[in-house]
Amino acid sequence: MTSSDGDAGRGADGDGAERDADDDAAALATTHRQFERTADRLGLDPAIRERLAHPDRTHRVAVPFERDDGTVETVTGFRVQHDGVRGPYKGGLRYRSSVSREECASLAAAMTWKCALVDLPYGGGKGGLRVDPRELSRDERERLTRNYADALGEFVGPRRDVPAPDLGTGPREMAWFADEYADRSAERGVVTGKPTAVGGLAERRAAPGRSVALVARETLRHYGASVEDATVAVQGYGSVGANAARLLDDWGASVVAVSDAHGGVYDPDGLDTHAVPAAFERPGAVTDHDATFVSNAELLAMDVDLLVPAAVEEVLTEANADAVDASLVVEGANGPTTPAADARLAERGIPVVPDLLANSGGVVASYFEWLSDVTTRRWSAEQLAERLDSRVVSAWHEVRDHVAERDLGDSTADHRSPAGSRWREAAYAVAVSRVAGAHEALS
Ligand code: GLU
Repeated sequence: MTSSDGDAGRGADGDGAERDADDDAAALATTHRQFERTADRLGLDPAIRERLAHPDRTHRVAVPFERDDGTVETVTGFRVQHDGVRGPYKGGLRYRSSVSREECASLAAAMTWKCALVDLPYGGGKGGLRVDPRELSRDERERLTRNYADALGEFVGPRRDVPAPDLGTGPREMAWFADEYADRSAERGVVTGKPTAVGGLAERRAAPGRSVALVARETLRHYGASVEDATVAVQGYGSVGANAARLLDDWGASVVAVSDAHGGVYDPDGLDTHAVPAAFERPGAVTDHDATFVSNAELLAMDVDLLVPAAVEEVLTEANADAVDASLVVEGANGPTTPAADARLAERGIPVVPDLLANSGGVVASYFEWLSDVTTRRWSAEQLAERLDSRVVSAWHEVRDHVAERDLGDSTADHRSPAGSRWREAAYAVAVSRVAGAHEALS
C-alpha cells in the first residue's frame, strides 16, 4: 500500500496476521463488555440498554471489481450502523483481509460512544472491505472503491451515514467514494477525510494524533507531571503515532522510541521525530533511521512516562501487561488494550486513557469538514485549530471530573466487578449517558 494513510493505526501496517473467529468475537466482546459494565453502573433503562446492545442495521455487500489482467473478483464488504439517535451514523471504512461483520459491529458501537463523548451530532457506524489493499494496484483500488460506493450508495448520505478513512484507506479512497456517489447526488458531505482540493480539511490527517498529544499533555499535568519532562514511547508511526510523537516532541517531551511493523528505533536522549520517516512519507521505513534498533515487544515494555500504542488493536494483552513499565498509557489506535490487560494495568495502578477520548480528534475534524460541506461555511486555520482543540479538551475535562469523583468515592467502591481503566469507565459513562439521554428524550 503506497497511497493510503488511514486513521487510527496505519502506522504499524504489518497487521497481515490473519484473525480468526475467536479474535473477532473478542473484539466485539471488548466494546460490548465495557458497555454492559457501564450500563450496570448507570442503572440504564432495560429497554434502552437492549436497544443499544445491538446495531440498528448491518449491511453486507458483494463488491465485484476488475483486476488489471481483466479477470473479475468479488470482495465482501460491510457497513454497520450502530445507533443513530443523535444524528447520522459516522465512522470509517477499513480495507483489511480480516475485516468481519463482528469487527465492524464492535467498531461501529465504539464510534457511537466516541461521537457522543465529544458531543458531535452523530451516531456510530463502521464498514470495511475484506481485502488486503497492499495487493491491489492503484487502478484496482479505484475500481473497487467506486463499486463499494455504488453498493453502499442507498445506505449512506450526508444526513444518513457519513464514512471516513480508517485502516488501509485515506483521502484518495474518500475522493473516489464521493465522486462515485455524485452519480446519485453531488453532495460532498457524504464522506469526510477527503483531499483538500475537494472539500477536505488540511487539519484532518494530523487531527487524531493531535488529540492524542493534547490528551496526553492534560493527563500528565493531572498526575503532576509535565510534557516537557516526559519520556515517551510510541508504537505505530502513521497518521496517529507520528503526528502525536512530533507534537509531543515539539512541546518539549523526549520521544525515546518509535516503531512500525518492522520494529523501532531508540535513543535515550530523544529522537528527532521529524527526521524519522512516517508511514505517510515512506511506509515501513522507521528502522531506516540511524538509531538503536528495538523490537515492538521491547518498546511496549520500556520504562517511560508515557506509552502510546498507536498501531493496531490488541497489542497490550494478558501476556505482556505485566511487562509494561510506563507510568501512563494513552491509546492512539482503536482497541489496543484487551480487557484482561486493562484489568491488569488497573491493578498495577497504571492509568490507561482510552481510544475514544484520545484519538477523537479525527472525528472532530471530520465534523467540521462535514459541517462546512453541508452549510458551505469555512473557517480560518486559527478558528479551526481552536475549535478542534477545545472539543477534545472539554471532553477530557468531563472525563477527568468523573475519574476524580470515582477516586474520591474509592473507599466505598464496588470491588465485585473486575476493575478496568478508570479513564475508560469514565469516558463510557459520559458517552453512554448522553446517548441514553437522547433515547429517553424521544421515548
Ligand atoms: N477512523 C476514524 C475513527 O476511528 C473515523 C472517524 C471519522 O472521521 O468518521 O475515529
